[in-house]
Amino acid sequence: MATGESASPSNFIRNIIDEHNQSGRFGGKVVTRFPPEPNGYLHIGHAKSICLNFGLAASYGGSCHLRFDDTNPAKEEQEYLDSIIEDVRWLGFDWGEHLYYASNYFDQLYEFAIKLINDGKAYVDDLSAQEIRAHRGTLTQPGIDSPYRGRGVDENLDLFQRMKAGEFPDGSRVLRAKIDMAHPNMVMRDPTLYRIRRAIHHRTGDKWCIYPMYDFTHCISDSIEGITHSICTLEFEDNRVLYDWMLDQLGIYHPQQIEFARLNLEFAVMSKRKLLELVKENYVDGWDDPRMPTIRGMRRRGYTPASLRLFCERIGVGKKESWIDMYWLEKAVRDDLNDKAPRVMGVLDPIKVVITNYPEDAEEVFEAPYYPDDPPAMGHRDVPFCRELYIEREDFMEDPPKKFWRMAPGQEVRLRWAYLVTCQEVVKDSQGEIVELRCTYDPETRGGWAPDDRKVKGTLHWVSARHGLGVQVRLYDRLFSMANPGAFKDRDYKEFLNPESKVLMPQAVVEPSLKDAAPGSCYQFERKGFFCADPVDSAPGRPVFNRVVTLRDSWAKILEQQKREAGRLEREARKTKKKAKKE
Ligand code: ATP
Ligand code: MG
Repeated sequence: MATGESASPSNFIRNIIDEHNQSGRFGGKVVTRFPPEPNGYLHIGHAKSICLNFGLAASYGGSCHLRFDDTNPAKEEQEYLDSIIEDVRWLGFDWGEHLYYASNYFDQLYEFAIKLINDGKAYVDDLSAQEIRAHRGTLTQPGIDSPYRGRGVDENLDLFQRMKAGEFPDGSRVLRAKIDMAHPNMVMRDPTLYRIRRAIHHRTGDKWCIYPMYDFTHCISDSIEGITHSICTLEFEDNRVLYDWMLDQLGIYHPQQIEFARLNLEFAVMSKRKLLELVKENYVDGWDDPRMPTIRGMRRRGYTPASLRLFCERIGVGKKESWIDMYWLEKAVRDDLNDKAPRVMGVLDPIKVVITNYPEDAEEVFEAPYYPDDPPAMGHRDVPFCRELYIEREDFMEDPPKKFWRMAPGQEVRLRWAYLVTCQEVVKDSQGEIVELRCTYDPETRGGWAPDDRKVKGTLHWVSARHGLGVQVRLYDRLFSMANPGAFKDRDYKEFLNPESKVLMPQAVVEPSLKDAAPGSCYQFERKGFFCADPVDSAPGRPVFNRVVTLRDSWAKILEQQKREAGRLEREARKTKKKAKKE
């Protein structure tokens, strides 16, 4: 099982567990769980929770359960369930025999509800959902008791059993806990425990027409499974009182709920509703679109499980809401791939180079290391060379500024692993567009070695025109060009989609060694970034490459600018508000 990549740093949750282990509260046991609702694909936020829960269990020698919180049949699907299983496994975690479903506990949950009714702690309410909401009160005003709150135990039992038997229409009645309608914590104002909903459940079929609510199901599921530390995100902080109340009323085993700050990632959206919308309305090419913050998308893009774990470990866990710059995710990907990805050459936007003093029919092969920092680590591949080559269009300038070390008329440059060459002539078409560069090479510089007396600052990547493999390359970038696309109340987050998040490079050519690149394998195209052979679109002998990440961050300046602008807008809004107040 994967744990952290290094010794896990201490955090507030570990401190709590350490205290429990010292006091013997759970007998030294650590049992955590990851409880997804199968109503969507997992995203990087879920990965944080997965790494946390599985990581804690692993480092304390405990176990982590995978439990599907499948109590809402209307929104849940087998497709999502299967994908969650696959994604958690892909991330490198193993729940062993501990795969559970909240729906497995439906019978027990029902019995617990009966117990609450018998103890006078739950009642059947005939108010509509709307009326219940209206009776709830506000943060400053107490709620109002439902007229059905005083029902006797027998009547409640009878009605609840008949709810289960299907005698009442959907939404006509609910079972509620009887706590306190004036409780300062709104969660405690007689929360709903069961509702009537006729829907086919993916596991229990049509056996049930009443379904338990989250707050009722979750604590009991934790209890049944002997979870020690029930770790959830901060928005459940208010629900902890109810979690504790419920288990105390039922008098059953009582885990400790602990809340942590969820992951918010800049330049992304993570709400399931928004992700679904992006997919359904074809803003992206499906759940596994390489630009999506889903595990699927990242996997297809070429992010590795280790890089996601590294990212989660580096951002840590805390109690304060915060936003993480996408830079950190991309950095983790770079850091991980840097040690793993073989270096190769690919020209994305080619321009032809003709070596005029190189014989027409000649060709030769250079043995180039896949990993120049440590050649034995990854071995070598053959890179063929001939009279006609491609280099990157942006690596040539006819009228270069000072300190342009790449190719320019009369300026000697190195072709990586091959020779030193000098551009002698620029050939243009009738529109003035450069179509060919005519160069000479120095045969004395085989392997790219520069004699002592020659300063050659530029080294360019290249591909033999005769041997190169034309491939489809897709340059992926951040899906949004705004750090916080969901932050503006009067603007739709889709307005901030980055129009350049997917750029096709139809002319790209790569060195022939990539012909058999295994789908899913990652390379560094020297000077251009990390690229991954798309696991879906690649065919034997015809890889399609996705850019995983650039070699350097190019967003820092943009983010800086946006933050300044956001600050300005905020100040302006405050001023306007102040002014409006005065008037
Ligand atoms: P919803 O409950 O609105 O459907 P959700 O994202 O909470 O959406 P769940 O399937 O309930 O989806 O999430 C499973 C687990 O993942 C929960 O324990 C939740 O706390 C955790 N989780 C979800 N989003 C994040 C996030 N952004 N950061 C950290 N943990 C998250
Ligand atoms: Mg949730």
